[in-house]
Amino acid sequence: MSTFQSINPYNQETIAEYAAHTGADIEQRLTSGHQAYRHLAQTSLQERCDWMLELVRLLKTNVDHHAAIITREMGKTLKEAKAEVLKCATSAEYYVNNIAGMLQPRIIASDAQQSYVSYEPKGIILAIMPWNFPYWQVFRFAIPNLLAGNTGLLKHASNVSGCALAIEDLFRQAGFPAGAFQALLVSSGHIEPVIADSRVQGVTLTGSTAAGMSVGALAGKYIKKSVLELGGSDPFIVLKDANLEEAAKVAVRARMQNAGQSCIAAKRWIVEGSVAGDFTDKVSQLLRQMKQGDPFDPATDMGPMARPDLAGELATQLQQTISQGAQLAVGGQQEAANFAPTLLTGVKKGMTAFDEETFGPLAVIIKAQHAEHAIELANQTPFGLGASLWTTDLDKAENLARLIDSGNVFVNAMVHSDARLPFGGVKLSGYGRELSLEGTHEFLNVKTVYIA
Ligand code: NDP
Repeated sequence: MSTFQSINPYNQETIAEYAAHTGADIEQRLTSGHQAYRHLAQTSLQERCDWMLELVRLLKTNVDHHAAIITREMGKTLKEAKAEVLKCATSAEYYVNNIAGMLQPRIIASDAQQSYVSYEPKGIILAIMPWNFPYWQVFRFAIPNLLAGNTGLLKHASNVSGCALAIEDLFRQAGFPAGAFQALLVSSGHIEPVIADSRVQGVTLTGSTAAGMSVGALAGKYIKKSVLELGGSDPFIVLKDANLEEAAKVAVRARMQNAGQSCIAAKRWIVEGSVAGDFTDKVSQLLRQMKQGDPFDPATDMGPMARPDLAGELATQLQQTISQGAQLAVGGQQEAANFAPTLLTGVKKGMTAFDEETFGPLAVIIKAQHAEHAIELANQTPFGLGASLWTTDLDKAENLARLIDSGNVFVNAMVHSDARLPFGGVKLSGYGRELSLEGTHEFLNVKTVYIA
């Protein structure tokens, strides 16, 4: 691809066209990224924290500007986009206040006079990122890595080049050295030489399982550390002793926010049989009240999906599941990128919406006979990212949480990423962690120093 087009998914208007980077452009960015890595090695943590605080200030001062770039390019509501920009700012503040402890050498007693582990940067880290949280997914990788002294090269999704360039600009304006954070406008087909380059020391990808398989294979081929944060088909389990009112409210939010396009969205609502009727009534009412429309309109609850092809794929999954025996309870309409909030009931294993990831505003209700059956259904998926479990019996919740195959279990809460907590999956949802101590250490050289 020699150009990248950004198209407003709400009205299909072309926003901008960007020329793809040439081989020479890519080489120049690799050189600059490597020089910046050498430069960062001469800087103190305090200096890097000061730049990050300036970046926080820029994000907070210009939140409306950045939110509008997001909304125009991928269609989430302006409210959601502002919250995303502010989350980047508050998370950066959190790392400024806490990174020193995370990078502190770990002293370990051994036969040596002194032995310890030192956490050191390695070089350029390539980040291949998706369009669904086009700022947050980038910042959650970039904040700890740049503070620790790595540099970042961003290959963003082809439909959000405007976001990629705006983020690059933010790092530059904040005072980070030239080359510390750069956008690379290349298509996925041209990424192998970048992963192969010796100046690139790791690759992190958030995206589909197919992309993960390809990038993971390339990382293996060139012996590069990789972190893969892939899709999910996460369960939202409602047991009969749950606070149904609250569970229904949160279920709708957890499935419908961002027009259902989140890796940790509550994609399968698994509800104990005796409360399934009540739960269905409550969520149906909430879904019917949702206002879909212009994402810039403050009254809109849900904007369009990010691209018409993604909405078309979801419509196919919906029709397949209905033809397999599920009942359409709410919504079901799709036009271009607009997909109405939709609910299917009577969904079972073997149906498309149970077996596959659905990446859009489609909620499904699966009935479980009892708590153990609910956990069995929850685990009948190739994915394992974040499960939500609803019950008022917290001892039971902790026991059941251990039985769920996923990287996160949230009890009586919606699964979400939080700068303080590690985030990542198991099974086909990927490997490695982002955020917190575990995420901060992923792309660092864990260097053992032994002084006899
Ligand atoms: P992709 O996974 O294709 O895109 C995510 C990122 O990966 C983009 O930057 C994309 O670049 C890149 N990419 C894709 N394939 C490769 C490859 N072989 N090598 C290197 N980079 C690659 O997502 P789509 O936009 O196509 O969405 C399809 C589905 O992916 C969704 O329906 C959903 O299931 C899943 N998805 C999951 C996300 C999550 O948060 N876990 C986020 C987004 C999507 P480019 O745009 O240039 O192709």
